[in-house]
Amino acid sequence: MTSRRSERLSRIPPYLFVEIDRRKRAAIAAGRDVIDFGIGDPDRPTPSFVVDAMAEAIRSPSNHRYASTVGSAAFREAVAGYMRRRFGVTVDPECEVIALLGSKEGIGHLPTAVVDPGEIVLVPDPGYPVYTSGAVFAEARCHIMPLTEANGWLPRLGDLPGDVRRDATLMYINYPNNPTSACAPLEFYADAVAFAREHGILVAHDAAYGDLYFDAPPPSILQIEGAAEVAIEFHSLSKTFNMTGWRVAFAVGNADALAALASVKSNLDSGVFQATQHAACVALGRYDDPAVRSSIAFYRARRDQLITGLRSAGWRVDPPAATFYVWAKCPSEYDSMTAAKKILDDADAVVIPGVGFGAGGEGFVRFALTVDEERTKQAMERIATIRW
Ligand SMILES: *Cc1c(COP(=O)(O)O)cnc(C)c1O
Repeated sequence: MTSRRSERLSRIPPYLFVEIDRRKRAAIAAGRDVIDFGIGDPDRPTPSFVVDAMAEAIRSPSNHRYASTVGSAAFREAVAGYMRRRFGVTVDPECEVIALLGSKEGIGHLPTAVVDPGEIVLVPDPGYPVYTSGAVFAEARCHIMPLTEANGWLPRLGDLPGDVRRDATLMYINYPNNPTSACAPLEFYADAVAFAREHGILVAHDAAYGDLYFDAPPPSILQIEGAAEVAIEFHSLSKTFNMTGWRVAFAVGNADALAALASVKSNLDSGVFQATQHAACVALGRYDDPAVRSSIAFYRARRDQLITGLRSAGWRVDPPAATFYVWAKCPSEYDSMTAAKKILDDADAVVIPGVGFGAGGEGFVRFALTVDEERTKQAMERIATIRW
């Protein structure tokens, strides 16, 4: 028996969370009391009205059969209703909406659907690692768009060289942003749409954190006139409704791109469990319900505690306006890996080194606000004792 591994797998950058996870487990095995600000997975439960809808739907035999790849008519209607009420955006539920098994799945499969080998995929750096892996699986070339603090963590589209503009067919953007927590103003989306139109590029906007905000609600790229001609947008129930384990999300926008994505999916998966789709419809209908928004109050309290703690420990850090991440500059010019190891070794706290999101994340670490207030306070007290 030979063990085979494709060459393309070796071209995927190492998934850094794995390395951090290994060190975390070693610390726990050694009996240390580890406080984990690592992977962004909500610690609060799914709202009970969503769980109740699921409990009922799972008893219906009609839900036990194969689902439609693109999602049920009811699901696509619920998405269209959400887009209309939340963003004032009209999408056609027939052809401008598809269901996904989590947005990671759609993001990862998109290049296979719309990019030919050798074409360029524009990926933000630092950024969510799946943009790169999906492009690698499709044998595309990745071109990095640096995100910098000086530019508000927005890519400078005007800086992209002529040959890159010529060969690029897909661009990923993501706001509110993971890992930097930056938000993009509406003008940025207008620029992205104009750029895409000029150069024949499809824009894929990842809006996984679109409903996880503390101040002004972040916009949709589809609010830009004509955006659906050149853009699709990924939304997910995972972070908004504490539903990461359920695997349900959707993409909206350009009908041709979504049809291509549906073709790939119909060869690989057979849609989202119909009971889950039903529960998702109920969730989307109540996205602004107090039971949903209450998670924001928890994140806000933790955010404020964490920012106060880090600042009094001498860190230079600003409170994020959205997402459940705090993106903090490492003290004393430390590189991010050394800083993360030091925080684990000296304070028994897990943070993600920025370099895990690409070279552009160097010098920063990411804290996820998925630790309760009491434990966050405790971690900040420990971090304050570190000698940098
Ligand atoms: C969490 C996350 C997602 C994916 O979430 P799903 O659970 O797959 O819907 C997508 N993009 C970013 C930037 C994320 O942080």
